[in-house]
Amino acid sequence: MAVAVGILSDTRRRTLEAICDTFAPSIDAPDGDEVLRAFLARSASDLDVAAQIEGLLAQTMQQEEIDALGALIDAFAEQDFAAQSLDARTTIIHAISDSSPEAKLGVRQLRALTFLFFYALPDSAGRNPNWDAISYPLLAVGGESAVLDADVCVLGSGAGGGVIAAELQRAGRQVLVLEMGQYRNEADFKQLELPGLLELYLGGGLSASEDGSISIFAGSTLGGGTVVNYMNCIRTPDHIRREWAQMGVEGIDSPDYDDHIDAVWERLGVTSAATSHNRTHKKLIDACERLGYPHRDLTRNVDTSCEDPRVCGYCFVGCQKGCKQSTMKTFLQDAADAGARFLVGARAERILTEDGRASGVQASVVHGDGTTTSVQVNAPTVVVACGAIETPALLLRSRIGGPAVGKHLRLHPASVVLGVYEQPIDGWIGQIQSALSDEFVGCDGDHGFLIEAIGVTPSIQAMSLPFADGEEHKRTLARIFKYSAPFISVARDHGEGEVVIDNYGRAVTRWSFADDTDARLFRRAMVELSKLHRAAGAKEMMTFHQKRISWREGEDFDDYLREVDAGSLAANDIAAFTAHQMGSCRMGSDPGDSVADGRGELHDCNGVWIGDASAFPTAPGVNPMISIMSLARRTAAVIAARG
Ligand SMILES: Cc1cc2nc3c(=O)[nH]c(=O)nc-3n(C[C@H](O)[C@H](O)[C@H](O)COP(=O)(O)OP(=O)(O)OC[C@H]3O[C@@H](n4cnc5c(N)ncnc54)[C@H](O)[C@@H]3O)c2cc1C
Repeated sequence: MAVAVGILSDTRRRTLEAICDTFAPSIDAPDGDEVLRAFLARSASDLDVAAQIEGLLAQTMQQEEIDALGALIDAFAEQDFAAQSLDARTTIIHAISDSSPEAKLGVRQLRALTFLFFYALPDSAGRNPNWDAISYPLLAVGGESAVLDADVCVLGSGAGGGVIAAELQRAGRQVLVLEMGQYRNEADFKQLELPGLLELYLGGGLSASEDGSISIFAGSTLGGGTVVNYMNCIRTPDHIRREWAQMGVEGIDSPDYDDHIDAVWERLGVTSAATSHNRTHKKLIDACERLGYPHRDLTRNVDTSCEDPRVCGYCFVGCQKGCKQSTMKTFLQDAADAGARFLVGARAERILTEDGRASGVQASVVHGDGTTTSVQVNAPTVVVACGAIETPALLLRSRIGGPAVGKHLRLHPASVVLGVYEQPIDGWIGQIQSALSDEFVGCDGDHGFLIEAIGVTPSIQAMSLPFADGEEHKRTLARIFKYSAPFISVARDHGEGEVVIDNYGRAVTRWSFADDTDARLFRRAMVELSKLHRAAGAKEMMTFHQKRISWREGEDFDDYLREVDAGSLAANDIAAFTAHQMGSCRMGSDPGDSVADGRGELHDCNGVWIGDASAFPTAPGVNPMISIMSLARRTAAVIAARG
């Protein structure tokens, strides 16, 4: 905090204290509860606000600015301001403020500074004493260490964590959410790829498997993946529910689970009412119709009253209009309204246990100045919802969860084929995702892929395009960017990957196309995406193989398809993507092959629950947010019923 440095005379300092105590006065009132009475009684002087302001001025202002502010304070002192009653001081403040535009600005600055420190200055435990009275849930911690208490500590605030925090706080538990990312909202969303990736994504958007075989996109901010995702809402398919029930997930095939989906659906405001198609999606729909494939408009969690398709293409770096109904807008808001508390920038390092059951969490908060506060949370119930890459890493660091921790990772590997059209596509404009086809779901036994499309962004497209030499790469990008439409496949994985930790306890993802079915599906998907582009009239197309595989109008299309089918899937020979990480701490009845039991509680540690996509026993084969949230709501109900 600002260090008090003496730059004001005694008279000015006393007058400044009185000004601050006029903005935040001590009121002796008998009404309300104890918290309210203490809040009303607390003055700016009780928090040394004037000294904090003086310290800040010394650090940030030039001498002439300090002199100008001093002259303003002198105007108060001339009226013997410090000796007046509160009412008289208030009248003087308004009168001086109204005396000139400069005075009005100066008074406003003093008021802003007073409230900055009065409502934001944390005490040694990291809490501002006024927050309880105004029901503010965000915590701050400072110093070397801090200790916090909660009934339930939820780790991660994404699709799973957000729902569980809301449901358990509503059920009367005191919930504390620790989120590794920061709190960012519409005011921070810049519609720019670089700051968006760096500030909102795991690993700054550059995460990948250990050998580079697949790029990993996951959200890391208050709200997790739900802040950056494309709002494509799909209910858990019935055959997946049956499969998971057979693997031991309790209640997943019962009508109760339908109620959980319905409740999530309703809270997110899922609708297809305003779904509209940009040029990329119009091409996809046109292609499906020409080939006789089914297609449908997406149902999305969006507030249709404020949606503006002109900025929707930047949805992957946060919705600037605030229409995306992320957990930040829905379940986390509900949790906060019910009294849950949040600590952002807080990375859970280890889950603490005593006698085989949860006792809390060890976390660390790194501050802007590089200092770190070590935080211990005492909590008998811990819900782990850090996403399917970080959740197993946390359990491995904590040495709990058994032999299956990190195994069975599913990624819904996505392929991209870029179609280049004669007319501009401007793929950064319009809803980022609005239609899909399930023509190839189940095309390979229980496995297959969805066909979808995405927006285009400069750096990700540049990173993914084939690279022969710098000039050719630049010329290609300059020629095609405006005209390119990316169609993608999202496959239901048959094989699996793994999450382990390195010597520093950091997550390491291992994954490859070693599984024959996954490799076959990926190749098939690129072939089918190419045929769709052809049907839509593309003049040129290319895969994201690093050794160029492309077709141009006039060339032999069958030759191209054979090349696509034969192209290398070895690590770094092709750009593959995952935005859906799942299954790495799965539920099941066998403790040797699963981490949590059918209700979500660890087999080997009571009081620790898996609340995110890690809990999926297998890949659902559809965009997973609704399934994650519905399963989390079910798990929250089980925890709440424990009493
Ligand atoms: C670009 C993109 C588009 C997508 N589009 C869709 C879509 O349209 N439809 C759909 O259904 N799904 C979509 N998804 C997937 C969906 O958003 C995710 O599957 C979902 O958010 C995962 O939920 P989760 O609870 O498992 O984890 P997340 O939502 O990823 O939340 C995990 C949170 O935990 C935090 N965390 C991690 N480690 C720690 C730690 N040690 N301590 C404290 N906090 C920690 C992270 O910062 C993160 O905020 C998309 C994903 C991405 C990235």
